[in-house]
Amino acid sequence: MGTKIEDILKTKIWLSSPHMGGNEQNYVKEAFDTNWVAPLGPNVTGFEQDLEKFLNEDVHIAALSSGTAALHLGLILLGVKAGDEVICQSFTFSASANPIVYLGATPVFIDSEIETWNMCPVALEDAIKDRISKGKTPKAIIPVHLYGMPYKADEIRSIANKYNIPILEDSAEALGSHYKGKMCGTFGDIAALSFNGNKIITTSGGGALVSHSKEIKEKAVFLATQARDNAPHYQHSEIGYNYRLSNISAGIGRGQMEVLQKHINLRREMHDFYKSIFKDNDAITVFQEPNSDYFSNHWLSCITINSDKLGKSREEIRLELEKENIESRPLWKPMHLQPIFKDYPYYGGKISETLFETGLCLPSGSNLNNDDKNRIKEVFQRFF
Ligand SMILES: *Cc1c(COP(=O)(O)O)cnc(C)c1O
Repeated sequence: MGTKIEDILKTKIWLSSPHMGGNEQNYVKEAFDTNWVAPLGPNVTGFEQDLEKFLNEDVHIAALSSGTAALHLGLILLGVKAGDEVICQSFTFSASANPIVYLGATPVFIDSEIETWNMCPVALEDAIKDRISKGKTPKAIIPVHLYGMPYKADEIRSIANKYNIPILEDSAEALGSHYKGKMCGTFGDIAALSFNGNKIITTSGGGALVSHSKEIKEKAVFLATQARDNAPHYQHSEIGYNYRLSNISAGIGRGQMEVLQKHINLRREMHDFYKSIFKDNDAITVFQEPNSDYFSNHWLSCITINSDKLGKSREEIRLELEKENIESRPLWKPMHLQPIFKDYPYYGGKISETLFETGLCLPSGSNLNNDDKNRIKEVFQRFF
């Protein structure tokens, strides 16, 4: 009693767990019934079309096996090669930076600004000028809409254009977010989306590459399917990858697209819930949009903690939640502080480092119910 895996799964409140809408299995069944059990088929095409329609711009989408694959192919399509430098937001998940190293290129990390927690335009321009003065113009810029919060898209774009450097937009956490009415995923020369199990919608594992040209999409699909030349035998004049999304996974994606808007609303309700819990507490700040230009999907709701005022550290709060089987997690540890990346160039101050020290992500799933909310609220009420 009480130790069966079912019981544990029932009572654990996760940070962000898969939330099925109901129709996913119908699309998957259709794939079985028609024997489209392959990394291509009607669900892949349908899922791509659903995403293109949702982003509401003239974009072309290639469904891939992961967001990381989309970033990797994105860098290749932007012409990044061994020995090049690529600028990357430091405050992010390692998958934003890893593909730079897959290619033998060098990441150059940039600190965040305090309003959106994303790439600081001032530090970005400092870095570009300094890298150019050292003899190397960066080949691409990877800004991230972290936790679903849009980065300062206008400012980053104008700097990128000034130095003629393309943007690879990491929109893995920001499907449904927008800035000045324009959807995240449409700001970059190329963008990456993720449908990993913890994201706002999931295909159990998957991603997509977004571009503004049909040719780039076609090239992405070509590279993602082993770069096979047009010949009856297997002929290759480029290195290829096996990165296409399966028709089974894409079926899950089509079902998830039917509930995406609902998931966005529910994630934003979770964020409102946290704002209401902490509204009279000046030791805890809920991270929110700086102004009405920004619309976050609030993939994860995050707080920062003034532990002097609260009398509790971030880690003490995390452990209190864990005791009640409630998952929470420190904010992303910046890349320039990671053992594997610490020797690469870094520009900026201590904004992301301070966020890492004081911040916590709270359970944010679209599938959390009132009982879950009450359990979370009770833990915090003990502190106040
Ligand atoms: C999830 C995520 C990725 C990688 O996506 P996968 O589909 O898990 O490969 C990249 N960048 C960020 C910011 C992410 O959160």
